[in-house]
Amino acid sequence: MHTQTGFGSEPEADMTAAPGVTRRELLKFAGATLALLVSPVGMAATSLLAVRVWPAAEYTRVTIEGNSQLKFTHLLVTDPHRLVVDLEGVEFDSVLQSLPSKVLDSDPYIKLIRAGRNRPGVVRLVVELKSEINPQVFTLAPVGNYGHRLVLDLYPTTPVDPLLALIEKSSPMDAAAGQTGDAPTAADAPAQIARPTPADQASPPRRSTRPAANRLVTIVLDPGHGGEDPGAVGARGSFEKNVTLSIARRLKQKIDAEPNMRAVLTRDGDYFVPLGQRVTRARRVQSDLFVSIHADAFVRPDARGSSVFVLSESGASSSAARWLAQKENDADLIGGVNLAKQDGHLARTLLDLSQTATINDSLKLGKAVLNELGDINTLHKAHVEQAGFAVLKAPDIPSILVETAFISNPEEEQRLNDDAYQDKMANAILRGLRLYFRDNPPIGRTKIAQLD
Ligand SMILES: [Zn+2]
Repeated sequence: MHTQTGFGSEPEADMTAAPGVTRRELLKFAGATLALLVSPVGMAATSLLAVRVWPAAEYTRVTIEGNSQLKFTHLLVTDPHRLVVDLEGVEFDSVLQSLPSKVLDSDPYIKLIRAGRNRPGVVRLVVELKSEINPQVFTLAPVGNYGHRLVLDLYPTTPVDPLLALIEKSSPMDAAAGQTGDAPTAADAPAQIARPTPADQASPPRRSTRPAANRLVTIVLDPGHGGEDPGAVGARGSFEKNVTLSIARRLKQKIDAEPNMRAVLTRDGDYFVPLGQRVTRARRVQSDLFVSIHADAFVRPDARGSSVFVLSESGASSSAARWLAQKENDADLIGGVNLAKQDGHLARTLLDLSQTATINDSLKLGKAVLNELGDINTLHKAHVEQAGFAVLKAPDIPSILVETAFISNPEEEQRLNDDAYQDKMANAILRGLRLYFRDNPPIGRTKIAQLD
């Protein structure tokens, strides 16, 4: 075992004599890159550009950004729980020195981070953990304004789904019944709902023949971007991800105050949620509607106005819509998705199901919301546009994407940051939702997803 130098007063504990870690674990976590540990290390080859920490209940992410691909090894050790990461070919510079101070006391998973020079050309990070975690460590190729990134995602060993937890809290019986398919749900309160009769089920189209249900509806609100992905950035420096979260929180409050309506957020903090996961979560809580909230941007600062988009099954309705969908879909690249952990299941589900009926409902919802937005802002486009937005691909949930205004327009950027205007925006969307449900009352909750 080599002697560690230049690493404060706790040289031996980590890695060399790691208590509680077996050779098997060591190999499991360090994998093939373990070989790097014994290879000679030359002068610093990578300059570090930035370090960031994104704490959230779901997971905490640590990002280390360099000007070339970072060479690293990592190791999970116990007693106490910590993640040890050796960065090769980097110097312990001011960027890395700033990392420990970026950890908040309130971080759900990280107690503290120690960083220091371990041996020539190797910097060691020791992430001391509050509990056992399940790490995902991966690199991201340069994209947008980012260079090469090394990402440490620290997940709890028992996954946290804040959205599901919220649903269970607000309506335990409904959430429980959601898993039983045809069984009566809490929302199917006896006097309120007429269950579909066999005759109804046999006579298509079902949407016009099934009786309306006066039941609790769930609306998933999706604040665009988050964490590593700031979304569009205004001339005054405001981030789309913050504006979208703020408007979504306001809208959630208003929806929750409505009788028979409740809202849940796909994220309620500054961290990144991959687009496919936003869709998956909406389906898991059997959402009735999905509303993704964004702020538009364009190179010309005079571009302005609100617009509403829905999914297209057959090409975009305009080249501008196609361009926008591509830009929004790039969120996964910028926000950073661990490709090794991607689940192909959703993609297959989407291929199997025709979304025509859902898109028709999405268009109705989009029109209702766009109409109301026209009362508080210029409309960028007078009709609902369509394109292949990844976040709108739930096959069974009418979904819209609202571009509230142009954050790249200095005037609209100012309004987007204004409390009163955010409130107006939330009210307009709420009015659109109400009108949609007035004209398209929710049907009884049976196996809708399967029947469609
Ligand atoms: Zn966006």
